[in-house]
Amino acid sequence: MILILTSNTDPQSADYLQLMAHLAGLDGIKTRVHVERGAEQTLTEIYLIGNTKALDLGDMQSLPCVERVVRVSEEYRILGRHKDDPRPAHFEYNGVKFSQDTLNVFAGLCAVDNPEHVELMLKALKENGQVCTRMGAYKPRTSPYAFQGHGKNCLPYVFELAGKYGIKVIAMEITHESHLHEIRAALQQTGNPTGVMLQIGTRNTQNFELLKIVGRQQEFPVLLKRGFGITLDESLNAAEYLASEGNRNVVFGLRGMKTNMGDPHRNLVDFAHVPVVKRLTRMPVCIDPSHSAGTRAAGPDGIQDIMHVTAQGVIAGANMILVDFHPAPVKALVDGPQALLLKELPQFLEDVQIAREAYLKRLALQQRYQNV
Ligand code: PEP
Ligand code: MN
Repeated sequence: MILILTSNTDPQSADYLQLMAHLAGLDGIKTRVHVERGAEQTLTEIYLIGNTKALDLGDMQSLPCVERVVRVSEEYRILGRHKDDPRPAHFEYNGVKFSQDTLNVFAGLCAVDNPEHVELMLKALKENGQVCTRMGAYKPRTSPYAFQGHGKNCLPYVFELAGKYGIKVIAMEITHESHLHEIRAALQQTGNPTGVMLQIGTRNTQNFELLKIVGRQQEFPVLLKRGFGITLDESLNAAEYLASEGNRNVVFGLRGMKTNMGDPHRNLVDFAHVPVVKRLTRMPVCIDPSHSAGTRAAGPDGIQDIMHVTAQGVIAGANMILVDFHPAPVKALVDGPQALLLKELPQFLEDVQIAREAYLKRLALQQRYQNV
């Protein structure tokens, strides 16, 4: 059960203290307070955990400071979609809006290799009107002998160049708490020229201690990739870990499932789950066509599989695209064979636009027919 308090409730006020005292007296019920500070108002929600079935909705509604009560199902309490749930389902970070209605493209390097390639990438993005990118600094690799990413050493030039080319948000995977501190320090050192969306990779989807650490900070939003060998439910619960610790600015990423049933693709593309995740939760849904298809192969129509699967995700309502590009894929230190070329960026973006327009038309069609 969630108690949504009247906006700008003062935690020192007599009413609030009376409410908390009452809740503390409820048998077998624990409370968790979540405060969301916006530009105009502060919203407070109190999550009641335990045997809430015994609580009467009307009684709870009449408590001081309570504006609304939502009875949530057991599943995905914070991020889930519940009946009569008025909680906002969008967030803004560094001027970029993320919701189940928007679409943001994060094209960029799988792994940062050198400043020259970073600059070529960011310049191409700016020329094509893009304000988001992906830049891997910490790379979880199958082999311990493979390139592990430049780590904190590349952060200053990545952030400075991002600022130079007007990039607002960089998706960047972290695999350890120290990476979070290094990113924060490098942003400060460079004067916060850009923003970072922390990415939890598929190999860490159920790294619960990492999720708790990332969930405890509200400075950076999070892109959580679906685990490649676990159920959708398990991955959605992983996202809920982030929210239950306090960070609900979470985007859920589909990146394909590990099985040879997807051959010759790198993973079995799972973008049919875009509407499923949107139905079960209020998270924006990201698709990663590069790590799912994983090849520059094209159909006999000449269109690359990566572009085909991107279109499939977007036409189903995806809200974010994470896609690998590289100025010189043969020189890339990670995932060169799946990187699109900079000269393919305009085509990619136009193709995305076609699919997005088709989705919006489908949406209008649905709305027209649901009223007949
Ligand atoms: C990535 O996006 O660079 C990546 C490693 O993805 P995943 O965790 O989905 O394999
Ligand atoms: Mn990769």
